[in-house]
Amino acid sequence: LLGADGAVTPTIFAEMSALAASTGAINLGQGFPDEDGPAEVLEAARAAIGAGANQYPPGRGVPDLLEAVAEHQARHYGIRLDPGSEILVTAGATEAIAATLLALCDGPDDEVVVFEPHYDAYAACVALAGARLRTVPLRWPDFQPDLDELARAVTDRTRIILVNDPHNPTGTVFSAAVREEIVRLAHRHDALIVTDEVYEHLVFDAPHTPIATLPGAAERTLSISSGGKTFRTTGWKIGWLSGPADLVTAVLAVKQFLTYVGGAPFQPAIATGLRLPDSFFAGIADDMRAKRDVLGAGLCAAGFDVSTPRGSYFTVADAAPLGAVDARAFCLELAERAGVVAIPLTAFAAPERRTPYATLVRFAACKRMDVLEEAALRLANKP
Ligand code: PMP
Ligand code: GLN
Repeated sequence: LLGADGAVTPTIFAEMSALAASTGAINLGQGFPDEDGPAEVLEAARAAIGAGANQYPPGRGVPDLLEAVAEHQARHYGIRLDPGSEILVTAGATEAIAATLLALCDGPDDEVVVFEPHYDAYAACVALAGARLRTVPLRWPDFQPDLDELARAVTDRTRIILVNDPHNPTGTVFSAAVREEIVRLAHRHDALIVTDEVYEHLVFDAPHTPIATLPGAAERTLSISSGGKTFRTTGWKIGWLSGPADLVTAVLAVKQFLTYVGGAPFQPAIATGLRLPDSFFAGIADDMRAKRDVLGAGLCAAGFDVSTPRGSYFTVADAAPLGAVDARAFCLELAERAGVVAIPLTAFAAPERRTPYATLVRFAACKRMDVLEEAALRLANKP
């Protein structure tokens, strides 16, 4: 995790946000919203601070949030959970991923199957857990895994199949056939499934289907989510995971020595958010779909080929028609020439497997409509 000079290598998100700050470019790189989320949620955090929720909360999480996660999973997906044993609150989805891998992997004989490109923390946390990474490629333009490649990657050495659906960075939503194959392979090879569903409410075509709802999946699946994307509170870092009590207990055993607890006043605020009416959840999906459409149209008009995402904050575009040969160099230049920052897709894959992504770029649509329109204008004028 350190560079050759012994210094911390910044993540691609930190690097590109710094580039946006130094060039004054519009930041469509790092995925964070530029507007606040629902007023009820913000007010609930202020009220919790005023009411003295400022000391260590319980290790598993504030009971109100545990209850709210259970209600949310039942309301949206029909999943029944015991808040006292089958749910754990974490410092964002990131801690849930890290603690899960540390808790459930037992050295280099354990393999973790990951779909690549992937969120950068996955490979780092697999390495920290001392486990071995096995990757299944997702290819332009639809980024669905090939079922034969998936079947070859999962073996008796597989400890965990790590799924991210809807997917960062590609915006893909896995097909029913892919989800079913993941469950079938997990059964056949006695593997666990860990699903990162932080974009669960940002889907554009059909309601989200958690893998845990598939027949035979719940008993071997840990589902992870977070309040950051749904309530536009990425800085609060309130996440959670749910699944079989023995697995959740194992993760809690590790989590208590990572952060111990966190976010006391934000936990009840996220509980308030999870209890918002269905119209809120439909509204954020509609809003993000409209933003995706504006961004996509702008990218097409500027000459990119666009892979239309079915979920998440992100759109992947191919800059090859604009003469790009190296996505990273293209992004560095784009900040200067067009005043727009984006992220090269190569940053989400290991160096030896970057060729298929060489000219692909990820743009974040989670920005105000006027910001997206201005970005589209800039891209059309000088890509
Ligand atoms: N997983 C994915 C796929 C993400 O995109 C992100 C955030 N950008 C996270 C996890 C991290 O979530 P949190 O901020 O809740 O730790
Ligand atoms: N998840 C966000 C993204 O993919 C930001 C993550 C981060 O900054 N670590 O852009």
